[in-house]
Amino acid sequence: RAKAEPGPSYAFFEASMNQAAQERMLAEQSLAKALEAGEFELLYQPKVRAGSRELLGFEALVRWQRPGHGQVSPAEFVPAAERTGQIQALGALIVALATRQLRDWLDRFGEVLPVAINVSPLQFEDARFVPRLLAAIEAMDLPRGSLQIEMTESAAIGHIEEVRPQLERLRQAGVLCALDDFGTGQSSLTMLRQLPIYSMKLDRSMIAPLPQHEASAVVRATCALGHSLGLEVVAEGVETEEQALAAEALGCTQLQGYHLGRPLQSTQAGELLAGRLSAALSAPSSRPDAP
Ligand code: C2E
Ligand code: MG
Ligand code: MG
Ligand code: MG
Repeated sequence: RAKAEPGPSYAFFEASMNQAAQERMLAEQSLAKALEAGEFELLYQPKVRAGSRELLGFEALVRWQRPGHGQVSPAEFVPAAERTGQIQALGALIVALATRQLRDWLDRFGEVLPVAINVSPLQFEDARFVPRLLAAIEAMDLPRGSLQIEMTESAAIGHIEEVRPQLERLRQAGVLCALDDFGTGQSSLTMLRQLPIYSMKLDRSMIAPLPQHEASAVVRATCALGHSLGLEVVAEGVETEEQALAAEALGCTQLQGYHLGRPLQSTQAGELLAGRLSAALSAPSSRPDAP
């Protein structure tokens, strides 16, 4: 229509702004409904130790089971929730789901491995986020260290002044933070040293080209940097055994990716956890009998 009937350019901008506003409103409404209807769930992707490949814990990844749309990726709705301000409510729900899951596993298995939730830096803009997170951990009576968080490198760096003291407070309470998608942001060594983090997760884009020569050099140097700062270094998005072996040889201390385990439904993750916990017991009699 704009082409057939050329008018002043503001008409075009006005129309597109209306469309953007409308889309925002629709997103806001459907997210609000979804939050109310309980359409979000967490999947749990394993993290394993480099070398032994033993299960170390899980990363919680949110999914929206949207009626009529199937499973919606967080890459689509997390940015929308950030734009509409609903990331606070979504974030609170994710904390509730993860802490409840940890409580359930503890009740069933007596022990648990850490679960890391992904956190948007916008959640730290609400001063109630950290106290509420700590309150949720306390309410579920979770062991120290069982809940962890992940924040992307670019997000942490972009909000370093607000984020740092809150990460420090979390660390003191045993909630460790990983720097996610490392290698895609612009963090300086100074910033890295200032952030109270316990691990860096090397982005899939750094891992995918392994064992190619230049990519290997970058991963080796990044691992050396991480080790010198006393950090765990996690290879993300490991899809092949070749990549896994290269990441291990270059100094990654943990591995994650489809090759080691896809994001799992709660039930399957619980089975994996139960297997890992019973394997850790020395008594063979503790193994459950076949039904
Ligand atoms: P992320 O935290 O870096 O998570 C890794 C993403 O890569 C996940 O996508 C995961 O399913 C996918 N992945 C894992 N292994 C492989 C692999 O071997 N190959 C490939 N191609 N992909 C792999 P997902 O679940 O779609 O999440 C995308 C991003 O959305 C996450 O990146 C994270 O930044 C964000 N996100 C996920 N869950 C949450 C959440 O609960 N809250 C917030 N704020 N953000 C979340
Ligand atoms: Mg993550
Ligand atoms: Mg990542
Ligand atoms: Mg990512």
